[in-house]
Amino acid sequence: RNNLNISLITETMIRNILPRRKNDTHKGNYGKAYIVAGSMGMTGAAMLTCEAVFRSGAGLLKVAIPQSLNSIMETRLIEAITVPLPELKKGVVGISDIEKIIKTMKESDVIAVGPGSGQTRELEEVLRNIFEEATIPIVLDADALNSLAHRLDMLKLLKSTAVLTPHIGEMARLINIPIEEIQRNKIQIAMEFAQKWKVILILKGARTVIASPEGKVFINTTGNPGMATAGSGDVLTGIVTGFLAQGIQPLEAALAAVYMHGAAGDRAAVRIGEYGLMAGDIVVELPHAIKEIV
Ligand code: AMP
Ligand code: MG
Repeated sequence: RNNLNISLITETMIRNILPRRKNDTHKGNYGKAYIVAGSMGMTGAAMLTCEAVFRSGAGLLKVAIPQSLNSIMETRLIEAITVPLPELKKGVVGISDIEKIIKTMKESDVIAVGPGSGQTRELEEVLRNIFEEATIPIVLDADALNSLAHRLDMLKLLKSTAVLTPHIGEMARLINIPIEEIQRNKIQIAMEFAQKWKVILILKGARTVIASPEGKVFINTTGNPGMATAGSGDVLTGIVTGFLAQGIQPLEAALAAVYMHGAAGDRAAVRIGEYGLMAGDIVVELPHAIKEIV
């Protein structure tokens, strides 16, 4: 349809969004990211998100991880600072951790919540507190979105910009509309949601749609079906978070992240094919894909 508010994301757009690094800089210039993710059985989701944060150029990263999973995290991801949190239930970030989460959030430039978090009552409370206190961009994915599903009104508490990254199933749960209907009407539904709730929506899939609160819509052109694999979305969450940490504006960070995530996946598919592609391969290719553009 001929609507001026809909554009394809192009390489030129992304080249204009991602700045070259300046010589006279230090890690503090590239931002502090804070990831709240992972639970028993899903430490890997947190790991993939964290690796993608660093691979997209963020300077510093703290990750909140349930205490019992801390040694796994510290062993595999030596660059991050872990903030182990006490658990109400083994492997689950509990309500007693909110103060610690808010404290770390206030020392950070961006916060992301949800990959592998597990959907719990506690997570809902954590989110409510984050929404009330945050003055930095917030990325919401996976179980953070599932926790929002029956209480979208909570989004009205937001004082800062939120970037939501649902796949079609999470979107269906979020707005209580059947998957088939969303598939048929992806652009319209994404546009209305972003405008209504004043958030940036990344509606993921084979042609990811990005919608802004101002009613602009973008469609991604990179990516391949090899990326339909566990953990792929967790990597995207890390890339958006990494770009936001560096001070890139939320809509531009979302566009660049979706494009580079797909471009990294395309490089991985050229190298090893679509069948055996795993989410970790997207992380490995990401810096190379960025290097081609910046
Ligand atoms: P998730 O379901 O949360 O793991 O997210 C999957 C990620 O992989 C999203 O960024 C999707 O856009 C991407 N993806 C999944 N399937 C495809 C596909 N067939 N073509 C391109 N990208 C895809
Ligand atoms: Mg996901």
